[in-house]
Amino acid sequence: MSVLVYIDYVPATRQPRQESITIVDVAREIASKLGTDVEGVLVNSVVVATKMRDMKILPRIYNIRLKNVPEGTYIPTLFGDALVEFCKKRNIEVLLFPATQRCREIAPYVAAKLDTGLVADVAELYVDERKEVIAVKPSFGENILAHIYIPDRKPKMFTVRASARKTPPPQYEQCELVHEEVSVPDSGKIEYVKSGQVYDPDIDILPERHDIVIGVGAGLSKESIDLIKAIAKKLGIGVGATKKITDKGILSTKFLIGESGKIIRPRIYVALGISGAPQHMTGVKDYEMLIAVNVDDRAPILNYSTHFYKSDANELVRKIAELVLR
Ligand SMILES: Cc1cc2nc3c(=O)[nH]c(=O)nc-3n(C[C@H](O)[C@H](O)[C@H](O)COP(=O)(O)OP(=O)(O)OC[C@H]3O[C@@H](n4cnc5c(N)ncnc54)[C@H](O)[C@@H]3O)c2cc1C
Repeated sequence: MSVLVYIDYVPATRQPRQESITIVDVAREIASKLGTDVEGVLVNSVVVATKMRDMKILPRIYNIRLKNVPEGTYIPTLFGDALVEFCKKRNIEVLLFPATQRCREIAPYVAAKLDTGLVADVAELYVDERKEVIAVKPSFGENILAHIYIPDRKPKMFTVRASARKTPPPQYEQCELVHEEVSVPDSGKIEYVKSGQVYDPDIDILPERHDIVIGVGAGLSKESIDLIKAIAKKLGIGVGATKKITDKGILSTKFLIGESGKIIRPRIYVALGISGAPQHMTGVKDYEMLIAVNVDDRAPILNYSTHFYKSDANELVRKIAELVLR
């Protein structure tokens, strides 16, 4: 019996996604509470499997090879079918996926084919006194925390928002790397054309990558937010945003913090022009310092702040930009 964690990676660069590494922390915790093994699985990349092996954060990694599909190629149905065939041969108690875009695509497909249950976009997982794995999900605008379990089905599947977790330390002297070939029924029908890397100019300022994050809200103008991005790039810090900002398209949802976005654990969060709605604040955990700048000294963000300044945040951004960007 095992807890299996699916390792998602960027096919073009053959790098495991950070969420695939941080979710190992969750998997190890659950496996230790259930008293089972913990293992990792990925599809069709010797390079990624080797990188994961060298981290020694799991005792065993399976690389499922796909015949006739070049390494670095992502085809969701083939990846899903490969996982299904792999799981059918094993006694897997729990199958965890990081809640990445790709896994949100594969996990429901695999769950349907294995005729099992899936809880998606889970914020926390724990094991109760009956040894049931319970998923916690905020629902109804953060008013309810739903505790969900999957009865009578295996593997119990979850996509987990683990980006706020830390990279787990190496725990095993050696990690065994097992290459396994599976035959996937439809692989002959798909013709590989080519794959490439999409360059993301914002990669260096994504909020989950930093200890210091500037959060931007509706109190800031678009010009100020553009300046914040430039300041963050220069200083090597992260940028987060409220839903009002991502809904207007000023920043993309990869910056969204909160119930509908990312959960982060920065050391310092600087909230500029953010009111402090619970749906946003649920995404900012365990900070040591929260500095808020708001024109309204009755804004709810005051209750979360270690330092509060009643001030025009746009004016402040202009001044900081003059100092940092000149
Ligand atoms: C189901 C559901 C899910 C949601 N999920 C999310 C989520 O994941 N993340 C999220 O962020 N929101 C989410 N929301 C929306 C959330 O409820 C709030 O509407 C949103 O967080 C508010 O964003 P804001 O603080 O930028 O805007 P506002 O609430 O409008 O606050 C703007 C603040 O800026 C201040 N201000 C104005 N001008 C200035 C100035 N010049 N200088 C300084 N301060 C100024 C104002 O006093 C105010 O406090 C969700 C809502 C629902 C219903």
